[in-house]
Amino acid sequence: MKFPAEPFRIKVVERIRQTTRDEREQCLQKAGMNVFSIKSDSIYVDLLTDSGTGAMSDEQWAGLMVGDESYAGSRSYFKFEKAILDITGYKEVIPTHQGRVAENLLFSTICKPGDIVPNNTHFDTTRANVEANHAEACDLPVKEALQPSLEKPFKGNMDVKKLDALLTEKRDKIPMVVMTVTNNSMGGQPVSMENIRETSKVCKKHGVMFLIDCARFAENSWFIHELESGYKNKEIIDIARELFSYADGCWMSSKKDALVNIGGFIALNDIELTKQIQNKLILIEGFPTYGGLAGRDLEAIARGLYEGLNQDYLQYRTAQVRYLGEMLLEAGISIVRPVGGHAVFIDAKHFAPHIPQEQFPGVALTVAMYREGGIRGVEIGSLMFGKNGSNGKDSHPPLELVRLAVPRRVYTTAHMTYVAEKIIEIFKQREKMKGLRLTYEAPMLRHFTARMEEID
Ligand SMILES: *Cc1c(COP(=O)(O)O)cnc(C)c1O
Repeated sequence: MKFPAEPFRIKVVERIRQTTRDEREQCLQKAGMNVFSIKSDSIYVDLLTDSGTGAMSDEQWAGLMVGDESYAGSRSYFKFEKAILDITGYKEVIPTHQGRVAENLLFSTICKPGDIVPNNTHFDTTRANVEANHAEACDLPVKEALQPSLEKPFKGNMDVKKLDALLTEKRDKIPMVVMTVTNNSMGGQPVSMENIRETSKVCKKHGVMFLIDCARFAENSWFIHELESGYKNKEIIDIARELFSYADGCWMSSKKDALVNIGGFIALNDIELTKQIQNKLILIEGFPTYGGLAGRDLEAIARGLYEGLNQDYLQYRTAQVRYLGEMLLEAGISIVRPVGGHAVFIDAKHFAPHIPQEQFPGVALTVAMYREGGIRGVEIGSLMFGKNGSNGKDSHPPLELVRLAVPRRVYTTAHMTYVAEKIIEIFKQREKMKGLRLTYEAPMLRHFTARMEEID
């Protein structure tokens, strides 16, 4: 068997409905060909994002019932705190309602205008929060990360030499260094323990704080277990503990590896910095023992963090994503390799070479996937990044990708097979796919609300 069977059975189900082709055509017209504007009821398999879309376990749902909703000193907070201190080894915990609030709190407290924040690769909300504080978000991925077809482990790594050079030159402008695990913006590629250790050494040498953006730390720990020598016989939780031990703190969007639908936190060793952030937390989120979350959410996160580190779960999780990627590869479809932790990224330029970049080949593929199969993916290409420059012309990113992000514990292998078969069908008749032109675009983050029409 290529794929380990699901290490769970299903106790509650949610109905999904396939629409007719006519219905889908109408939905597309109404949505201006933008899948962000299609109602979820009209989608059969939704691979838009893996953020907050996972299924909770019976244990987590049971946790909601015993959640303590006390304003201060909630019992559920102490369970949440205990789980995070146990897994990360840090001293202090600050709950937030999403990852981006953690970013807002951290960067607004730490960054001054003109500062530089190096990161293996900033996730988009991380970049936006650095820039909102008039600091520069500097990406330092290894060069292999920019070669999508290169099959090499740990393409999520930081370029440590470049980091060392940057710190040597501009230490006074750099208040912290960040490592994102897994490297979400580079295809969910993992970071090796060796790279984290080396990054930590460089940070210590220059006396700079080192933080981990740890939304997918469990998936990253699993890849270390599988791919890095010396980790085969270690427990995943111990790999995670070692990973955190090299840094001074972390923040997490719990909507990923904590297997919940909302939540986040910051964990730090620095008590003074924690106090400063807590004072801001009270202003914008809430009291330090709930921070924008209900007691039941804290309970679900405490339980989900351990479930997300379970070896059987992680083996199934990563194999399911890989299975989807391998079916596409076998049919000759070009994807980002190796398959990362949470998603498969299709190379849309290769998929539809007859559609030029200014006609959005990635969007054309998202349209075809919805039209033919009721499947929703997201374009990561010219619509998302190719904003009108100051000269009024569109610029184009190097890659035109379509991301199929797989929600955790939600879809079965049969759903993955269905998705792959539909995409392969489209690939066989790809010359029928049409380019698009914009009919409306917002001045910022245009991909969410853009309207387009197909070019005949
Ligand atoms: C999702 C994510 C965030 C932002 O978290 P939200 O919960 O969506 O606000 C930050 N960093 C990384 C790496 C993420 O994947």
